[in-house]
Amino acid sequence: MGKVKQGTICSVRGCDEKATRSVSADKAREALQGAGASFEEDRARRIYLCQKHYKVYKKQTKKDKKVEKWRYGA
Ligand SMILES: [Zn+2]
Repeated sequence: MGKVKQGTICSVRGCDEKATRSVSADKAREALQGAGASFEEDRARRIYLCQKHYKVYKKQTKKDKKVEKWRYGA
């Protein structure tokens, strides 16, 4: 997880909260689109998330991990 420059705004469309976390764009898209969110920057490599959306992201990636474990037999 990366730190975020001050003044960076959350990448979720319609959200103008201050970003507190930056995460891999692929993962963030997968996780947050599953939760009904879309992003301002469609081709950005990093996605910046405010606290609220980071929580959503974490929730969604937890779910995914279970699936991955099963899928890859880890
Ligand atoms: Zn947000």
